[in-house]
Amino acid sequence: MEEAMPGFMMRLVQEFADKVQPALADRYLREGEVGRCRICGRPTSRDREICSFCAVRMRAAGTATG
Ligand SMILES: [Zn+2]
Repeated sequence: MEEAMPGFMMRLVQEFADKVQPALADRYLREGEVGRCRICGRPTSRDREICSFCAVRMRAAGTATG
């Protein structure tokens, strides 16, 4: 079911990231808990190697290829 429209899912994820990431980045900067996604370089929490955007994107890609 979920792999029916990976392109649509990707677009949702991207729009979500564009809206949410700036707010998260601002929060992280204030708290001084800034990490960097090793894939896209977006600010993320320090205990994470990749941001939530890339995590979902990788899952979507994996689903698309089966
Ligand atoms: Zn990322």
